[in-house]
Amino acid sequence: MIDSTKHQGQRRQLVQLLEQKGIDDAQVLAAMGSVPRHFFMDSGLQAYAYADKAYPISADQTISQPYTVAFQTQLLALKKGDKVLEIGTGSGYQTAVLMAYQGVKVFSIERQQELFKKTGLLLKKLQLRPKKLILGDGYKGWTTEAPFNAIIVTAGAPEVPKALLEQLAIGGRLVIPVGEKDQVMTRYIRTGEKTFDRKTYGVFRFVPLLKDRN
Ligand code: SAH
Repeated sequence: MIDSTKHQGQRRQLVQLLEQKGIDDAQVLAAMGSVPRHFFMDSGLQAYAYADKAYPISADQTISQPYTVAFQTQLLALKKGDKVLEIGTGSGYQTAVLMAYQGVKVFSIERQQELFKKTGLLLKKLQLRPKKLILGDGYKGWTTEAPFNAIIVTAGAPEVPKALLEQLAIGGRLVIPVGEKDQVMTRYIRTGEKTFDRKTYGVFRFVPLLKDRN
């Protein structure tokens, strides 16, 4: 069960900081204020949970910086009833932020078995129920659940996976950091069967989106 009272003051401060940094979507700020990030941190690092920084988690991966989570979530422009796919479950923090939206159905894919298992158990313990989590390669998206109204990639993609564009509903948004060393935050909006609007939103740094071993 989530103890939502713990560290409320620190979360409020984090939300203020996010506002100062330019996050202005009230729903995003409410979601960021409601998710207890300390549960998603490694035990030795919990004291830093409300600092606006990325930290290491298992399997050489990172829990994304709160500003990045808020920024990407804002670009997703989620609406009630949306089906959203996250690539890179990781710690589950971004997953929980997506689940803070009422009436949004969350699907998430992670390729590291260790994180997939650990985060699945954690979300259960916190009584957060995404529609489905799978262990797999996010490059391929999730054919059987497509189309999605929103897709968020939380690892740096050397190129935009074609499957993800194909799995967007018309009007759907793909938010993806693109690049090798640094990544340019990019949003695609599917405007028609074969047409997309593409816009970029500055430079970020993510752990790499990796291809399947086989
Ligand atoms: N949203 C997460 C970010 C974790 S880092 C959080 O804030 O905790 C990015 C995650 O993407 C890692 O867990 C990594 O294992 C995963 N990942 C990398 N390549 C992937 C792929 N091809 N498919 C699915 N997940 C992938």
